[in-house]
Amino acid sequence: MKITTMLGDVLRSLLRPNSTQQYPAERQPDPERLRGKLVWNGEKCTGCALCVKECPALAIELITLDKAAKRFVMRYHIYRCTFCAQCVENCRFGCLQMSNTDWELAAADKSAFTVYYGKEHDIEMARSAQAASTKPEPAEG
Ligand code: SF4
Ligand code: SF4
Repeated sequence: MKITTMLGDVLRSLLRPNSTQQYPAERQPDPERLRGKLVWNGEKCTGCALCVKECPALAIELITLDKAAKRFVMRYHIYRCTFCAQCVENCRFGCLQMSNTDWELAAADKSAFTVYYGKEHDIEMARSAQAASTKPEPAEG
């Protein structure tokens, strides 16, 4: 490259306004179709588990507490999710959505990467059942 061409490029760059965004100080509106955190609304959930079967990343689990009473809890592993929206497409009851406003998902604490959805007391039951099933066996002798 000729030195004059290079100097011309440098001058042009110096005179051009910044094209980088000063995130997070400056924020653009969230794009409408952005795929952020998966959100589950269990009101119409039938427990068919199609969303779980179709998830290529094994990122969601449906915990059935009482199928007849439609008591389910969804466990969402954000760290596995590829944000493909396959689960959203497959739910015939519109229970799943990808938030376009909740997408800043970095966290220092790993517990933030597993999210429970459902009624509060159902979540408590599901958590206690999980804790009991993962409790280490007492040492023999
Ligand atoms: S596909 Fe929809 S209705 Fe079926 S278990 Fe998933 S969220 Fe519930
Ligand atoms: S968005 Fe894709 S990877 Fe994430 S939970 Fe749904 S199906 Fe699984």
